Amino acid sequence: MSDQYDKVHVEQMKSFGEDAEKEGVDTEEQVPVSSPSASISPDHSSITITGTDASSTPLLCKPTGKSRSKPGKDDKKHTSDATSHGFVVSSEKNLNRLGYERTLHVKGTGKLQQGKSETNGNYVTIHTAKNTEETRREDGFKLAKKRRPVTVDTSKAKTSLEALKISIKQLKWKEFPLGRRAACDIYWHGVSFHDNENIVSGQVNKFPGMIEMLRKINLSRAVRTMQELFPEEYDFYPRSWILPEEYQQFTTQIRMVKENDATVNPTFIVKPDGGSQGDGIYLIRDPSDLKLMTGSQAKQGVVQEYINKPLLIDKLKFDIRLYVLIKSLEPLEIYIAKEGLTRFCTEPYQEPSQKNLSHVFMHLTNYSLNVHSGNFVHSDSQSTGSKRTLSSVLYRLAAKGVDIKRVWSDIIALVIKTVIAVVPELKVYYQADIPPGKPGPTCFQILGFDILLMKNLKPVLLEVNSNPSMRIEHEQEVAPGVFEYVPSPVDEEVKVGVIRDTLRLMDPSHKKPTISQQRAGGFEQGEEIPMEEESQEKSQDETGALPSLCLKQVYPKYSKQFNYLRLVERIAALFIRFLGVKGNMRLGPTAFRTFIRTCKLSSSNFTMASVDILYIDITRRWSGAMSDSREAGMGLQAFVEAFFYLAARRFKSLALREQVVSLLELCETQLGPQSGVEERRSLSCSRALPRTIKTLCLTNPQLNSPAPLRRAASQDYRLHQRFKPRSLRANVEN
Ligand code: ADP
Repeated sequence: MSDQYDKVHVEQMKSFGEDAEKEGVDTEEQVPVSSPSASISPDHSSITITGTDASSTPLLCKPTGKSRSKPGKDDKKHTSDATSHGFVVSSEKNLNRLGYERTLHVKGTGKLQQGKSETNGNYVTIHTAKNTEETRREDGFKLAKKRRPVTVDTSKAKTSLEALKISIKQLKWKEFPLGRRAACDIYWHGVSFHDNENIVSGQVNKFPGMIEMLRKINLSRAVRTMQELFPEEYDFYPRSWILPEEYQQFTTQIRMVKENDATVNPTFIVKPDGGSQGDGIYLIRDPSDLKLMTGSQAKQGVVQEYINKPLLIDKLKFDIRLYVLIKSLEPLEIYIAKEGLTRFCTEPYQEPSQKNLSHVFMHLTNYSLNVHSGNFVHSDSQSTGSKRTLSSVLYRLAAKGVDIKRVWSDIIALVIKTVIAVVPELKVYYQADIPPGKPGPTCFQILGFDILLMKNLKPVLLEVNSNPSMRIEHEQEVAPGVFEYVPSPVDEEVKVGVIRDTLRLMDPSHKKPTISQQRAGGFEQGEEIPMEEESQEKSQDETGALPSLCLKQVYPKYSKQFNYLRLVERIAALFIRFLGVKGNMRLGPTAFRTFIRTCKLSSSNFTMASVDILYIDITRRWSGAMSDSREAGMGLQAFVEAFFYLAARRFKSLALREQVVSLLELCETQLGPQSGVEERRSLSCSRALPRTIKTLCLTNPQLNSPAPLRRAASQDYRLHQRFKPRSLRANVEN
């Protein structure tokens, strides 16, 4: 972690919570009547609880009672009479580049003015005319019907199977539940890209490397890199420290914060790296409460600032599960499902105190935990119970006067920025598993974003799930001690829509729009807001027609606003260019040298010997940090660190972001336009190590490097000490 990063965050920490306190929003349900500014920093002032008892308090889930089912109860639907809740839904034309009309605007106090109200998975969408995209889609479906049906291999779908079967049936596609000898158009995997091996065509619903990238440590690292470059844009992710390697930084920073202001007493949430469903999670109030070891093994995980002023509904903490489709990496295409789920805690929320730290049903919103609470309410209604639709919650907030349009666009921004943070590494995985020029499938993936709304309405990213549950039934105690899976209408409503519409978007008979055809714009145009709707969409059986898509493109649609964030992706493009064509994920020392030479980054002040030392130092440190590394060498994150270092050396007077941009421009100019496989082949570097470098890499690099080389290199480094990240400096000087 760079000094700069440390500084930014210690300062952020000092200003804990000012925003929310200033907002002064504290209604009965903590629902503010207006939306705060977009640049809300995490609510830190709220972290003022005193009491220093530092005993560790694990959050243990104890099943305490029966699940309560209330079939038939509370299933009175909200009506779509927005006026009764003080809304205006107006229709307005916005012609985009494709020439179709976008129409919905929620304005605050009025009525449905004109046009047809169309149900769209609980959305109010007002169309003044059928848009061209829709017409094109319908034409596409007509054509598709005439052709052979799209084939889907569902043999590895696991827990998605039920929702997938319904979707395939609705689309009148053909399912292959046991797989098929001939190729299928689509392969639906339950876990990872590798569930079926040797797929050489079609489309797979998982990207290689997604599981790895979205583990808590890697996601934290990827977001942190972006926070270094764009601290304000990436303030939606709670400050996190990686364990065990950043334990020292964590304790030092917390001590400093507490010394500066004795009233500050933050709470932290500790999460195991590979964990899910709340497993192994606990809250602490002092670094000494961290359980760092399991037996003799250091526990891998993150410790994260706990957001202690969440927005409450019915006095309960809740979080949002949003489904996001990455339709393609190149070009980047992101869709957000307009309908999602909200998961409610089952014990009224109180700010963390030493007494309640272990109250799992108060602090953790995981369904898998709360379902075991005696207070869990299974409900057939989408707007009551412990699991509700997102639209019903937004509807309720809107009724309280919340600017949900603002909340929704903040959520869209959070999603796009998060995807931008993980795409660089995903591209490295992608080219390793599906090397350019070799036959292989294309990929898409549905992700589950877990988002918490703070009391001041700022959305905070908790985690991204690479395998969000697509189950449409839930476990229920039908008789004492007898559990059965019973259909869950809320899950079915949301998840079938997401899967079906993902399939529709991936329909191979659809012609892909070219990049130039894709719309790129800003938020200035009206956003569709998820809203609960009176009449449920009619099923295909009744009407023979499919409902309009519940997935909405947000990228490249909003690319103009977010493209400038895609800097690390440009660094990744350089990295991939020098990887060679063998499906590698790591740069060898020769490849790194080739990069430096080709981009003309060495000089008499920065010799190739220094380059070697830089390579060794960074690679060695990162190889310790990356437990799942497939091979030796310099991975992307290490390369990014080296790149930042080189940028800082070269453009000393600039701020980090400008340094990086300047170096990127320099490198890209030297390399000329990116070309295909052939050029990469010619640029590809032998994995064999030159003899001197071998000596450096395979043994203790500092002690065993040839003396003259070492001397020259360290002299070189000394010249540039003050521009190096602290950790790098310490290692080089040893
Ligand atoms: P898991 O993958 O085990 O579900 P999460 O990161 O989603 O782990 O955390 C589990 C739950 O803990 C979340 O659903 C949320 O309710 C709560 N939580 C997680 N991180 C925070 C945080 N930083 N602040 C407040 N609550 C959090």
